[in-house]
Amino acid sequence: MKTIFITGASSGIGKATAKLFQSKGWHVIATMRNPEKETALTQLENITVLPLDVTNVKQIASTVATAVSLAKIDVVVNNAGYGLMSSLEALTEDNIVKQVDTNFLGTVRVTKAFIPYFRERKSGLFINVTSIGGHTGFPFTSIYNGTKWAVEGWSECLSIELSMFGVGVKTVAPSATNTNLFSHHSDVAPLPYYEAVEKKMLGMIKPASLPEEIADVIYEAATDNKDQLRYFAGKSSQAIYDRRMEIGAEASRKEIKSIYFDGLKT
Ligand code: NDP
Repeated sequence: MKTIFITGASSGIGKATAKLFQSKGWHVIATMRNPEKETALTQLENITVLPLDVTNVKQIASTVATAVSLAKIDVVVNNAGYGLMSSLEALTEDNIVKQVDTNFLGTVRVTKAFIPYFRERKSGLFINVTSIGGHTGFPFTSIYNGTKWAVEGWSECLSIELSMFGVGVKTVAPSATNTNLFSHHSDVAPLPYYEAVEKKMLGMIKPASLPEEIADVIYEAATDNKDQLRYFAGKSSQAIYDRRMEIGAEASRKEIKSIYFDGLKT
């Protein structure tokens, strides 16, 4: 039986991924910040729930040690993250540091903790959940998108570096998906200078995909045995990426600017 280790499995894409792999006969180590609150995954066979906050260095060490003592881990999915949505000007130092700490450094830390284990076994696969926002730019998500661009670039570097040990690195970039991700925009009060455009931008986000659709692509990435770095998931991710490739990065940036700002007085 193969084993997958997932971060942020308490809801959304992480939980759907845990359920999908369990249904396919995998052993799932579903990690989350508050395992005592979990009632669904604990009912399922072959799911082990462990505590993990990806900003807690000591807990990463102890949870990874527990995980590798329980089973032979084949795949690690770095999924934990949240969406900080605001103009840059409105963000506090704490808002910014916490977003980078979770979305980028959390992924780096969990990966680093597993590398010696995978290196010694000369196999293993990391799948990092990024975003279509890690391939293109949108207003009012600059720090969030920055963390996802960081994970994309870092994953490309690491996929080359770890290939020397037969260890794989892949990214899965979803488009807007119906989860709790968008609940964080109320964490930061909008500044008056940006309010109208921010409202328009938030109104334009249509979380048209289901977390199960993203889980399907994570499953494909975990099982297709391809030496491929990037996967796009959800209703519009591939199309948004293809459009950028088709017209080029500069034209894409101008196009996105006009989508948000044409017809708006700022
Ligand atoms: P959810 O908010 O439903 O799930 C996010 C998960 O991450 C939760 O389990 C949450 O745990 C966990 N999490 C947050 N902070 C930490 C932390 N410090 N340590 C451990 N776990 C943490 O949103 P999604 O399922 O949508 O998000 C999953 C991933 O998908 C994220 O990386 C997100 O950026 C990415 N993504 C989502 C898209 C979307 O439209 N939904 C689009 C593109 C990418 P808790 O329950 O404790 O808060």
